[in-house]
Amino acid sequence: MVSIQFCGGAGSVTGANYVIDNGKIRFVVDCGLVQGSSEADEINYKPFVYDPKSISFMISTHTHIDHIGRIPKLVKDGFSGEIYSTYPTQEFAEISLRDTVSIMEHDHSQLPLFAEEDVDKAVAQWRGKEYHEIYEIDENISFRFQDAGHILGSAITEIWVLDPETGKRIKLVFSGDLGNVPSVLLRKYDYIEEADYVIVESCYGDRIHQKLAERKEILKQAIKDTIDRKSVLIMPTFSIERTQDILYELNDIVENHSGEGLPQGRVGRIDVYLDSPLAIKATRIHAKYTQYYNQEAKQLAKTDEIFEFPFLTMTEHREDSMKINSQPQPKMIMAGSGMSTGGRVLYHEERYLSDPNNIILFVGYQAPRTLGRRILEGENPVYIHNHPVENKIEVRKVDGYSAHADKEMLLDWLSHIKQTKNIFVVQGEQEASESLANAIKDTLHITAKVPEENQVIILS
Ligand SMILES: [Zn+2]
Repeated sequence: MVSIQFCGGAGSVTGANYVIDNGKIRFVVDCGLVQGSSEADEINYKPFVYDPKSISFMISTHTHIDHIGRIPKLVKDGFSGEIYSTYPTQEFAEISLRDTVSIMEHDHSQLPLFAEEDVDKAVAQWRGKEYHEIYEIDENISFRFQDAGHILGSAITEIWVLDPETGKRIKLVFSGDLGNVPSVLLRKYDYIEEADYVIVESCYGDRIHQKLAERKEILKQAIKDTIDRKSVLIMPTFSIERTQDILYELNDIVENHSGEGLPQGRVGRIDVYLDSPLAIKATRIHAKYTQYYNQEAKQLAKTDEIFEFPFLTMTEHREDSMKINSQPQPKMIMAGSGMSTGGRVLYHEERYLSDPNNIILFVGYQAPRTLGRRILEGENPVYIHNHPVENKIEVRKVDGYSAHADKEMLLDWLSHIKQTKNIFVVQGEQEASESLANAIKDTLHITAKVPEENQVIILS
């Protein structure tokens, strides 16, 4: 008998965590932090509903914290097996988890969920793997990573599980998070030929994205308006992928499109600060793995430093970060965290939110109840570092930078998979998941279901 338990990511975007069991071997796919809800902390601190010591190995689809953030806790609670992911995911995971520990250690409101030594252990258990190759764990399980096009190193995972009672192999496919198309830097997601069961994300399961050209226009316009007003443009950024996409586009705007609607022909008249140690480190890792870029980006990377351009300052150290405040305007500040739940962006928001001349440009999903969502929805005042701050800043938003596939893309990807018995729709807000499940039933005529938290389903 083969079963899957939806221990996280069912009916919610974050906290992805799935346990698969065939009676002989039990393993986990993803082990993410729950984020953005009032109960998030409580859930993260709860013991796992399964015994971590009973888990033989785990698979990590990509390095976003809502997919890897509880791995050190799993290790702390007794999991000692190997962790498999692609090579970039392995590298990103180390810097992301170390960053998470340092954020937790600075938060004195509660004990850290795990410590540096748990991250050390997780890093030691981690094994990088290639895309497109089948790896056999033992006679029970084998798996293969395909490109998910979501962030560098992200993977769709095909898993073959032996049902010892019937001798049949059941094929499961986890979409992980599926990328938006076209991606600035990455290849399009791979199509999967067949599967018995698909576990598909649905973050944007009920929406259609703006197109690439439109989003670049919005970015350019925000820069132009900031220059005209001599004001400040704040962009809360997600360290991995979104930041590099935007640097790549800024590089392109500076080097190839100067003059197009920008005063005196130069976007360079605005100073750009990348104020996130994690994003700076992630940018270095990106620069290393050019083999995973799409054709165009690969080509450009041969002749150009694609993430660097004049007037860009990377402020890795705290002292340099603090100097940004006294730098002349206009200026653009990219800082994390992407949903303003922590990090240096809070200091900039605290300082610049009250001026209606300034612009804040959101480039990604803002989970309910996060500071990012409150600013986006115009809540006034908002609370930063426990103080009220007037929220008068001009809010703009680009959906197209999302690293997630939209409804059309998810349906396109699913429509290529043959012989599917059932599709489980996960990693979305309830409404988005339901909407995608209904669209699957209506357009693809395949059974689709939004599992409940901790539900166990028998696969045959
Ligand atoms: Zn993701």
